[in-house]
Amino acid sequence: MLRKRRKIKTLILGDSFSGNVYAAQDLSNSLFLSWPGSTSALDGWGFADTCIDRTPIFLEEPDCLRRLGLESSEIDYEYVLIGEEASLKDKFSLRGEETPDYTWYDLFPRTYSKVYKPVLSWCQIIKLLRNSVEVPRLYANVTSIDPKEKTVLLEGGALIEYEEIVSSIPQDLLLSRLRGVGLEGIHENYAYLPYNISLIIGKIDQRIGENEVVVYALGRKRYVASHAILLKSVIDAVTKEHALIYVLTPLRRGADKTEILVKNFSELKNLGIKVREVVFARSYLEKYGRILKLGRSPYDELLGELNIRFIGRYGSWEELSICNIIKKILSTHKRL
Ligand SMILES: Cc1cc2nc3c(=O)[nH]c(=O)nc-3n(C[C@H](O)[C@H](O)[C@H](O)COP(=O)(O)OP(=O)(O)OC[C@H]3O[C@@H](n4cnc5c(N)ncnc54)[C@H](O)[C@@H]3O)c2cc1C
Repeated sequence: MLRKRRKIKTLILGDSFSGNVYAAQDLSNSLFLSWPGSTSALDGWGFADTCIDRTPIFLEEPDCLRRLGLESSEIDYEYVLIGEEASLKDKFSLRGEETPDYTWYDLFPRTYSKVYKPVLSWCQIIKLLRNSVEVPRLYANVTSIDPKEKTVLLEGGALIEYEEIVSSIPQDLLLSRLRGVGLEGIHENYAYLPYNISLIIGKIDQRIGENEVVVYALGRKRYVASHAILLKSVIDAVTKEHALIYVLTPLRRGADKTEILVKNFSELKNLGIKVREVVFARSYLEKYGRILKLGRSPYDELLGELNIRFIGRYGSWEELSICNIIKKILSTHKRL
């Protein structure tokens, strides 16, 4: 079979927030390669001529976004813990995790009363990044990667030659594609906890100001969800009186997205939050996880020697906040 070869310097895997921030630093001879249909956690849903975020994301400080030329506003943050923190943390713990000390749970602001939210929504930010970063983008499935030959074989037979790989896709996925370096099986160490995230836009009786967010952290068995987040965000004239309600549910066993969405209305009712005049309701699954036992192992070094580097939360050995992602990319890209 005749295979088309294409040679590039930096192959950026994942059309993610991290990938775009990275590419914005150095545009020379790079290519984005992403799986068709896979999206960033920052991608949103189309609604009322704009997009709304699928995931509630807050910042501890505004400076990190300012470094990308984006402004944030301060919001009052109220955190209400119902039940025990230990049982809440247990809901977050990954199967097979040895030290569940630093997990996604720790990204959630708990103690402080002020957090920041970008003036634009996150989905507008990622659109802006994609439009302003002029790097060719290819959406195709990767069959295998030969890190010794420095080639990537795509479904359909096309071959890409690269000098280095910068990856923000889940590590298990990348490692499962590597051939000839004995790392193929390592993805079996992947621990994950699927998360259902529902967004409901409707009217509620609670008074929520435009610069306010209320987070109910549910550390009780009675509540299946782990967090209910109430946030007012004016999308258009129609939604002025509406609240954005995110409900986060860790899944221990398979469950239907629609079923969880329906259950979430009763979870909210249990909390005393009655939702009326719903104008939007949708759920999606976030596969949150990480490879166990890999951090600071000899594999790190081996991957470094093979010119494969990881960026972003999926690529790192730990769960990273957006600010940490930006800081790491801006401080290390010169050395990459
Ligand atoms: C519920 C939730 C709440 C969060 N809250 C906060 C917060 O309050 N503050 C904060 O600073 N950060 C928060 N984060 C983290 C924040 O979302 C990330 O830092 C941000 O999305 C940037 O991540 P990234 O660029 O590394 O990954 P992303 O932009 O999500 O991209 C990852 C890449 O991997 C690819 N990918 C993923 N899965 C697959 C797959 N199965 N197959 C193929 N490709 C795949 C995607 O297409 C994408 O290209 C939160 C995350 C979640 C999920």
